[in-house]
Amino acid sequence: MATCSVCGVRKAVVYQKHTGLRLCKECFMENVQMRVKAEIERWRMIEPGETILLGLSGGKDSWVLLDTLTQIHDPGRIIAVTIIEGIPGYNRREYAERVRMKAREYGVDHIMTSIKEYTGYTLAEIVERAFKNGLRVSPCTFCGISRRRILNHYARMYGADKTATAHNLDDESQAAFINLLRGDWEGLLRQHPQSQPASPLIVPRVKPIRKIYEWETATYAYLGGFPLQETECAYINLMPTLRARVRRALYRLEEERPGTLLRFMETLDTLLEEEASKLKPQPLPRCEKCGEPTSHGRRLCKLCELLEKAGIQRPQYAEAYRRGGEVLKLYRLRVSEGGGRDE
Ligand code: SF4
Ligand code: ZN
Ligand code: ZN
Repeated sequence: MATCSVCGVRKAVVYQKHTGLRLCKECFMENVQMRVKAEIERWRMIEPGETILLGLSGGKDSWVLLDTLTQIHDPGRIIAVTIIEGIPGYNRREYAERVRMKAREYGVDHIMTSIKEYTGYTLAEIVERAFKNGLRVSPCTFCGISRRRILNHYARMYGADKTATAHNLDDESQAAFINLLRGDWEGLLRQHPQSQPASPLIVPRVKPIRKIYEWETATYAYLGGFPLQETECAYINLMPTLRARVRRALYRLEEERPGTLLRFMETLDTLLEEEASKLKPQPLPRCEKCGEPTSHGRRLCKLCELLEKAGIQRPQYAEAYRRGGEVLKLYRLRVSEGGGRDE
């Protein structure tokens, strides 16, 4: 390969199709870091002194998030959380231990937990029950909702100001496209970095690597020598059909016209900015079982509803709430003391 287009000294190892640049390892990693920093600053995602709870699965995207964020924000104010899903052969405790060791090298605190610890069941147990009960819901849906809930739970518990997740440009553009196809206007606005959470009980979420392509996070993680799992999740091919189709279609478009996904998200960012910033947290109805926020007209939150359909009536988090709801009480105290957010 040719010489790096930026430094003109080192050998290029990456061809960045959407810019036409050929980059050496150092210039490529710096390019990603600068873009993450620019995105954080553009939307003022993170302010100095804030405590950030970071989802660290140990996958390529989460390493990029940790590596770039710790260069921008004080690692002493970052808490990484690794959630073990409980999928046979995937993301086992031994691997999570390696993730923990690596996280500590960055000087961040680390919490290890699992879907089982929160709900009382591993993801595999939930999926098995769901299938037995004839519930046709993708394991990724259970997985995504549970992980979001667990992150928010710990964010409240540790008084974090924000949660940071490692959604990349491919994830974000797929989600936006699906929201457009479904006509889900609110979902689309909620994706925007200017929008605030639906309820004061949800800690604001940021996605600092939302403008980094998935191939770039994979390359960054590889060049950076991060520990990556060799096994793939056994449920990867059971992802919701619409998501799989949109994914394929967007890849084709990007292949034919490099930069398409980036332009798509940039356009949405500009178009939706004003509307998204009008969305404010509101007091929402609370789930009868677990006390978490739910939408108007619903008895249960999404997670309780799905678990109930899968035949799980009394998940552990709901039992903990029934016994006292300590975490929610603590959180209410904190937000009312702060004088800002309240129910
Ligand atoms: Fe979870 Fe689906 Fe990812 Fe597997 S592929 S870890 S089930 S989101
Ligand atoms: Zn270079
Ligand atoms: Zn609930």
